Amino acid sequence: MQHPELRFRQVHLDFHTSESIAGIGMAFDPEDFADTLVRANVDSITCFARCHHGWLYYDSQLNPERRHPHLTTDLLRRQIEVCHDHDIRVPIYITVQWDHYTANQHPEWLAIDDQGKPFGTPPFEAGFYRRLCVNSPYRDFLKAHTQEVLESLPTDGLFFDIVGVLPCACQHCRAGMVAQGLDPAKLANRQLYAQHMIDEFKRDMTAFVRRFNADCTIFYNAGHVGTRDRATTDAYTHWELESLPSGGWGYLHFPIAQRYARTLGPDCLGMTGKFHTSWGDFHSFKNQAALEYECFRMLALGAKCSVGDQLPPSGAIEPHVYNLIGAVYGSVAQKEPWCRGARPLNDIAVLSPEEFAGADAGRLLQATMGIERMLDEGSHQFDIIDSMADFSAYKLLVLPDSIPVDAKLATRLEQYVAQDGAIIASFESGLTPAQDGFALTLLGVELAGEGPRDANGQLVRGRHFPSNDYTEYLRPGTAIGTGLPPTEHAMYMRGLEVHATGTTEVLADTIASFFDRTYQHFSSHRQTPSSGEVRGPAIVRNGQVIYFAQPIFSQYAQNAPRWCKQLFLNAVALLLPQPLLRHNGPSSVFASLLDQSSHKRWVAHLLHYIPERRGSDFDVIEEAIPLHDLEVSVRAPLGVQRVVTAPDGNELPFRVEGQRLIFTLPRLNGHQMIALEW
Ligand SMILES: [Zn+2]
Repeated sequence: MQHPELRFRQVHLDFHTSESIAGIGMAFDPEDFADTLVRANVDSITCFARCHHGWLYYDSQLNPERRHPHLTTDLLRRQIEVCHDHDIRVPIYITVQWDHYTANQHPEWLAIDDQGKPFGTPPFEAGFYRRLCVNSPYRDFLKAHTQEVLESLPTDGLFFDIVGVLPCACQHCRAGMVAQGLDPAKLANRQLYAQHMIDEFKRDMTAFVRRFNADCTIFYNAGHVGTRDRATTDAYTHWELESLPSGGWGYLHFPIAQRYARTLGPDCLGMTGKFHTSWGDFHSFKNQAALEYECFRMLALGAKCSVGDQLPPSGAIEPHVYNLIGAVYGSVAQKEPWCRGARPLNDIAVLSPEEFAGADAGRLLQATMGIERMLDEGSHQFDIIDSMADFSAYKLLVLPDSIPVDAKLATRLEQYVAQDGAIIASFESGLTPAQDGFALTLLGVELAGEGPRDANGQLVRGRHFPSNDYTEYLRPGTAIGTGLPPTEHAMYMRGLEVHATGTTEVLADTIASFFDRTYQHFSSHRQTPSSGEVRGPAIVRNGQVIYFAQPIFSQYAQNAPRWCKQLFLNAVALLLPQPLLRHNGPSSVFASLLDQSSHKRWVAHLLHYIPERRGSDFDVIEEAIPLHDLEVSVRAPLGVQRVVTAPDGNELPFRVEGQRLIFTLPRLNGHQMIALEW
């Protein structure tokens, strides 16, 4: 599969339009449409062939019954033609699993749950969210429809939407499972089959598309790109990361997904929305500072930009929306020369818990969120990887909280450390998949016991209890305790009980409370105070390997104890004394470093925007907060001649101390790139 470089300034123009609205496309003015996009610096716009209502927005010979009943013009064709006249690409949108018309016409094609009911919207609720099963004859319809699009419309790309995995129990999926010797009555089998079936669908559809078009872009959207997508990378030309921070994804989703997606090879596109909330929020406007942050953070993480909008039913593009998008995309256009072909530089790789526990938009794992925050706040440069990645590109691997290690992964990790790699692992990471002991002996610990269980017989370790019932305490030694008072610190989530082995150095002790909090015995409002008695090691070091017994990353995602972050960043500093980038600004600075060797420069990105919870629903950003006299230190390549802000071109004085190049940025107002040129 070819992996084309994507355009930087894209719009995803939603157009799910009810049959109860008349005059569809009546006010579409091709020149006004294109002029508005050109003025807003848009260079690619995804337009609609078929929407979630099931309607078509072009003149179809194949399915005239599906043409929107009030469509007044051959809208999609005219959108494509005028955009092409202005060198704007037009990938074409085709819905897959959500299609209201097809769900009503062909209920026998719906995905069915274990109660025999269709997944999604019940009959007396608004919404088109029932799911069609692509294991049914629906796939034949979808192919014929796609073929008509490819043969009758100039097709730059195809965006297949809603291609998710769900444990379908329809007759076709049940028969498929039986044929493979799987018992369809078991949920785990339905999930396994569903993943393989959707993977097979993507490969099948891509091969089908290629019979008609050799080079259009192809993407299958499920609202998240993650470890489950690696297996079908060849079915995609690129990754498109739908992630509307105000629309259910939150501000942590995009960096987590992007740090993984960018390791797979194809080019990446971040996708946010212009909406105040989420898709379909007409006549609402995202704060400009928020849109800046979202787009500039895409650039900083090595992605291109896409902003979601929805075209009003009349087809008249909304100029005020494009004033907003244009204000940001004008700046993106100026910044592009420092972003094109730039590869993120990294010290650290985080093994993703998602590979073992699954994840989705709105269902990110706590350990992943915790480590994303800690490393971001420490301005470390890192990827998120899976167990199949090449470890040798990184100086430090982190196994956060819950990475099971089988014999094969243990061997790879041991080889990595033997070749000067360093590891930080926490909590249950390093245990065998059966959790009966440590597979990774170089952590320097062995399992001492399973720890307490609650009144229901469930293990309490790693769980959040609102009254901190099973809290223990951590007392750091001097090496790991830099920046913390030399005393006990509450660890609200119970850790793993371990012994140190051999010559392992104990960096911090776990101190027990007098007793765990239950109805039989409790003290005060929250956890029981410290007994002062050492229960076992909390943090140990074995050469280039540091192990934390407590789930510090999940804990940080839950309620952000600064001491958990400080202990982790201290451990990173012990193993990685010369990180790629440091600065003296606050932890709210987002910093990245990219290599643009083709231009003989590295490019640092610094951002300072602070999401705040001003409404109870989601975080917003209303303005950038300028910072002054930010000192930045980079472990830079030899021979840097010039440090210069981009794109504005102000040369900054710098000095070299050992491996590090140090300069001061007089003012950071939102986003600033700084080029280190040689
Ligand atoms: Zn099915």
